[in-house]
Amino acid sequence: MADVAVVGGGPAGLSAALFTQKNGLDTVVFDTDGTWMHKAHLFNYPGIGSQDGTAFLETLREQVDSFGVDRRQGAAVTSVEETDDGFSVATDDDSLDAEFVVLATGANRDLAESLGCAFDGDLVEADLTMETSVENAYATGAMVRAEEWQAVISAGDGAAAALNILTKVKGDHYHDFDVPDTAAQVFGDLADEDAGAE
Ligand SMILES: Cc1cc2nc3c(=O)[nH]c(=O)nc-3n(C[C@H](O)[C@H](O)[C@H](O)COP(=O)(O)OP(=O)(O)OC[C@H]3O[C@@H](n4cnc5c(N)ncnc54)[C@H](O)[C@@H]3O)c2cc1C
Repeated sequence: MADVAVVGGGPAGLSAALFTQKNGLDTVVFDTDGTWMHKAHLFNYPGIGSQDGTAFLETLREQVDSFGVDRRQGAAVTSVEETDDGFSVATDDDSLDAEFVVLATGANRDLAESLGCAFDGDLVEADLTMETSVENAYATGAMVRAEEWQAVISAGDGAAAALNILTKVKGDHYHDFDVPDTAAQVFGDLADEDAGAE
């Protein structure tokens, strides 16, 4: 059983996975690689001057992989159902149980609908932490937003969902704060190189 199942591997899903796995929750990402990022060129993602969307995604995939996310590329989720202790996430090949589920399927809201999440018109209802009306099920990106379709907003939605999950698991208000003094413990030589470059 995983702690977190993420459906969708665009900016929203990978951001959620980055935060949860980095902070110790076993996280599985299912993705069919239909992300809009393959059509985009980023000039408006803070901290990135100009980057092809596919290149951005490759870096993000490497980043989550480096923390140990179980990224199941090409695995289409066919259903998400509630169980006694979480959710069962099914593909054509197998199924996975997880305590939390993050839906990050872009504008496709089918799984949220079949799971029984409340809708407001065409949009999935979610609170500021991106939790839906189904406890421990989160929705992000275009499925909850009529207009704000931007990579950084989706990534923020995923991060908000992840921090809420971490708060539920670990207690208090969870902050994923790193500081320069501890960066070397996480990134080793890479942190040293960054420091040397400044
Ligand atoms: C032409 C174009 C240009 C754009 N330019 C910009 C730009 O300049 N700047 C900017 O910020 N944004 C831009 N965007 C928008 C940006 O690409 C999106 O906001 C962003 O990709 C949304 O991220 P997401 O993670 O919410 O969804 P997506 O990136 O759409 O990712 C959803 C993922 O879920 C997967 N998926 C769906 N259903 C399933 C399932 N059942 N099982 C498993 N996986 C599933 C899909 O294959 C996909 O990989 C552009 C979009 C387009 C179309």
